[in-house]
Amino acid sequence: MASFRCADIGMSCGFEVKGAKDANEVMEIAAAHAKNSHGISSPPPDLVAKLKAAIKA
Ligand SMILES: [Zn+2]
Repeated sequence: MASFRCADIGMSCGFEVKGAKDANEVMEIAAAHAKNSHGISSPPPDLVAKLKAAIKA
């Protein structure tokens, strides 16, 4: 199981992903959330790197 919290990458946001099957699924869910909730349609590489580092698998 993999998990991620938006707060872990410095967002003031209560969003979290829990129970995803792996990091790839977390990335998909987080990308959809970033677009819908943060208006980030294509995350810059540094943000993607931060996000990957914050995923707990
Ligand atoms: Zn968020």
